Amino acid sequence: MPELISSIDKLPPCLRDSVRPEERAFVQGLEAAGRLPFAVSPHYASLARPDAEDPIRRQFFPDPRESLSETGPFALPDPLGEERYRVSPRLIHQYPDRVLLLAGGACAGYCRHCFRRVRMSGGMSFIAEDELGPVLSYLGVHPEIRELLVSGGDPLTAPDEELESLFAQVRRHNRALALRVCTRVPVTDPRRLDAGLIELCRRYRPLRFSVHINHPRELSPPTRLALEALAGAGIPVLVQTVLLKGVNDSAATLSSLFRECRGLGLLPYYLFQLDLAPGAAHFRVALRRGLALYRELQKAPAGAEPPVYAVDLPGGGGKIPLSEEKIAGERGDALLLKAPDGSLWAYPAG
Ligand code: SF4
Repeated sequence: MPELISSIDKLPPCLRDSVRPEERAFVQGLEAAGRLPFAVSPHYASLARPDAEDPIRRQFFPDPRESLSETGPFALPDPLGEERYRVSPRLIHQYPDRVLLLAGGACAGYCRHCFRRVRMSGGMSFIAEDELGPVLSYLGVHPEIRELLVSGGDPLTAPDEELESLFAQVRRHNRALALRVCTRVPVTDPRRLDAGLIELCRRYRPLRFSVHINHPRELSPPTRLALEALAGAGIPVLVQTVLLKGVNDSAATLSSLFRECRGLGLLPYYLFQLDLAPGAAHFRVALRRGLALYRELQKAPAGAEPPVYAVDLPGGGGKIPLSEEKIAGERGDALLLKAPDGSLWAYPAG
């Protein structure tokens, strides 16, 4: 992993000079307050423009507004309710046929909208041998599990040897289990996807990538090369995008992103409504506005359909595709969303 930029004074000069006094004070207080630290990869920082409203800068540079939504009825330290489904310290089993492995703690920079921001603030190292044992035992007695999502933080911040050891042990245990590498590294540190890593991943197929990409400008030349190399090696690449206010909340931006991804041989898979992580509310697009935006995207011609617009029902209700029909009513400041089993889950209206 490249050395991350974690102080304002190490930013490229034009970005450093764009930092306002209130932003500087906020960044300097993050660590003492136990908040998600400031860290960005040199590559990702190089994509930003020196403007507080720049969609790249907004995603990595801490915003004093974070402190306004750290508490309150809609701030959930565990927005997806993963703790309810934790079956071993590193394994989450929420859906019948797939499990989520919390494999790696570091990220190649911190996204300010991260739904795991509370966990990321504490840090978590890459999974050790003795932590993998309970995972493999669990998989052994649950043959209905078909796919292991390797997530984390970002598993690709681990060295090749550690990744190989993880994949090899899983494969020895179960030759058919599909692996899904959940990562933002192709965007934040694209040179990490060198020929060696791609070949390593190819050896452990069935394996696919789920890459978090939010804006067309994140598809820089080295990112394009990395993603094309993955697709060219026969590794399917799904794209997940988070709908973010002031970053990508326009039909023109999103349709351009999805079109470019398709052109690279990637599959836009999900457009997510923001999860309710503390300190991220300033990124939230009102749900009804999100639905209107999605209707615009659905006017795209055949072959350019948008990915599924979905939300993780706050607190552990699972993922549902969003549509007007899913809004069953209102309660106070919240909309009530209906899960497939008929249960109702509150999501803020604004
Ligand atoms: S890369 Fe993923 S886990 Fe890491 S900070 Fe960004 S959203 Fe969170």
